[in-house]
Amino acid sequence: MSSSETTAAPIEWATTIMFGVTTLVTITVVPVYAWFNDFSATAWVSAFLLWVYCGIAIGSGYHRLWSHRTYEAHWLLKLFYAIGGAFALQHSILQWSARHRVHHRHVDEEEKDPHSIKRGFWYAHMGWMIRDYEPARIGFDKVPDLKRDPIVMWQHRNYWLLTWTANLGVPALIGWISGDLWGCLLLAGFARLVLNHQVTFMINSLAHMWGKQPYTEENTARDNWLIALVTCGEGYHNFHHMFEGDYRNGVRWWQIDLNKWFINVCSWFGLARNFRRTPKIQILRAKVKLQFERAQARLSRIEAGQTTFRDTLDAEYEQFLETVKAWQELQVQRVQKKRADLQERWNRTAISTRMRELEYSLKMQRKRLSHMVAAIPVA
Ligand SMILES: [Zn+2]
Ligand SMILES: [Zn+2]
Repeated sequence: MSSSETTAAPIEWATTIMFGVTTLVTITVVPVYAWFNDFSATAWVSAFLLWVYCGIAIGSGYHRLWSHRTYEAHWLLKLFYAIGGAFALQHSILQWSARHRVHHRHVDEEEKDPHSIKRGFWYAHMGWMIRDYEPARIGFDKVPDLKRDPIVMWQHRNYWLLTWTANLGVPALIGWISGDLWGCLLLAGFARLVLNHQVTFMINSLAHMWGKQPYTEENTARDNWLIALVTCGEGYHNFHHMFEGDYRNGVRWWQIDLNKWFINVCSWFGLARNFRRTPKIQILRAKVKLQFERAQARLSRIEAGQTTFRDTLDAEYEQFLETVKAWQELQVQRVQKKRADLQERWNRTAISTRMRELEYSLKMQRKRLSHMVAAIPVA
């Protein structure tokens, strides 16, 4: 798309006015009100809880459940997400998921990714929504599975009613009951909504610019713990773009992923099940493969004569290929064993043990490679 076409895209007035009014109220009326009045504890607590609710509804519901189908949820949990999504004011599940699936399929493509970072920070953050750009016009043919979900369709049909009730009705009701009507409306209504919008939009903008790329450099997505902290775990975006079918975004136990923890807690009560997880060895393979690519790139930039590095790297690569091959063979065996249900248990255990050995071998190789990459002089 040429720049003249970009500027010619017609303005989406409803969206622009909504963003304009909510942002303006939050940055002017909220601080002025705070100067002359004290917000009640109810206003602060309800704003915080509703903010987390929005984050979870979008992350655990819209994103991991409906867009990527990484687990199954009870209808009660789906209802909880559907209402939270209306609070978050980010369109219906159907529309959000359709766009998000296209984002993954065509990530970084200027003509096809609805919010490609290649068109700049502002476009990826909010610009793509305030004008009617071609890549953001996505049909519902991308989500035939979701069209069969009664809760998704119910939310889609009643979206505006739900949104108005949630964003104005609920804060007003809390305020009326607690005796702080304006405080609750401003903090739990406006400020909470704007904050939730801004942090979610960061995933499309900042999480494609700022952070580390431990799993892949094939797209712009980054892992960033700070963004994860404010988005209930959605900031581990490099992992997510590499393994989009995984219900976790922060795959390590210590990574801040509130959505992962929330989904896990739901499973204790029978509300979530059948989690999809990427096998550990597959994650390690991606990491080690990327290390090789980085080491090769570094070596190609330095003077010839660094044969020691090159020989070591070649030997390591040879070993890597062998480990991957052994793993693939085991994978085949495992599938066969699963089919032949009556095979001895011993065989299956032996396969698992061997798998763990291969995992360990890759883990060690990853350590050796990081030392080696650090030792290669930078050109
Ligand atoms: Zn995604
Ligand atoms: Zn992305």
